[in-house]
Amino acid sequence: MALTEELKRCPLCGGASGREGLNGKVPLVKCHGCGFVYAGSSDREIEAANRCGEETKDLYRQIQSAFDVAWFDWLVSRFPGTTVLDIGCGNGLLLRRYQAAGWTVAGVDPAPWAQTTDYPVFADMSQTPRDYYDVVTCTSALEHLPEPVAMVKLALGAVRPGGVVYMSVPNYDSWAARRRPERMREQEVPHHCNFFTPRDLRRLCRCAGASSFRIRSYGLPLAWDVWRKHRLKAGKRAASSCIRTQQQSPRPGWKHRLVVKAYYWAGFWRGDKLELYMTQPF
Ligand SMILES: [Zn+2]
Repeated sequence: MALTEELKRCPLCGGASGREGLNGKVPLVKCHGCGFVYAGSSDREIEAANRCGEETKDLYRQIQSAFDVAWFDWLVSRFPGTTVLDIGCGNGLLLRRYQAAGWTVAGVDPAPWAQTTDYPVFADMSQTPRDYYDVVTCTSALEHLPEPVAMVKLALGAVRPGGVVYMSVPNYDSWAARRRPERMREQEVPHHCNFFTPRDLRRLCRCAGASSFRIRSYGLPLAWDVWRKHRLKAGKRAASSCIRTQQQSPRPGWKHRLVVKAYYWAGFWRGDKLELYMTQPF
């Protein structure tokens, strides 16, 4: 794809200057001002690449397992409160775990199939109440959005004073990404349009006006990729032999919980993911 004459402005600092794609073939741009690497594709191309049809529902079903349930249960246990908004809620597995813990839940997702649930799902952030939720979560979504600063501002606006905004994104300063940075980004663009490192996340927080935040890396390198491929294969096998019922309600045991914590702490130094924990001041 040819890059347009004028390179897209940096989504973090708004800088106009940028360097054309890291190898000139894919539309990647590196900001001269702040060093952030992002997709040079138009917002429309990015949105088209991220449109989640009905088939996404099946994909979720195939890759989600008792480990995901254990992971989300642990995530829920880390937050104080009773009301939560999950941005990019998809098939709602995380929100179901909040419900199981007694929380009042709501989601945001543009996909029509994600909106047919027994809890409220808004099509976009403009419909959500302001200064209301104890916790706002946004896991693995910010890397798909052309305007990440605006989304962080909206998330901070939806949380009550003293509440928490939690976000997670892939870490492009991880061991795996540092080994082959261009290849990793080229494979993912424009589906992923923001390639955050811890430094970029700090800048993002400052741009969005977050006053109190903590950034940490987690996740055993490549574990998630290997696991997803395994699940997709297993899912296809299960679908073909019509034994899908066990996957519908995976129940985690102590082994799942142990593996989930080991996965998290194994990425303490340059892990595969980054988590961003912001607190809204009173
Ligand atoms: Zn920049």
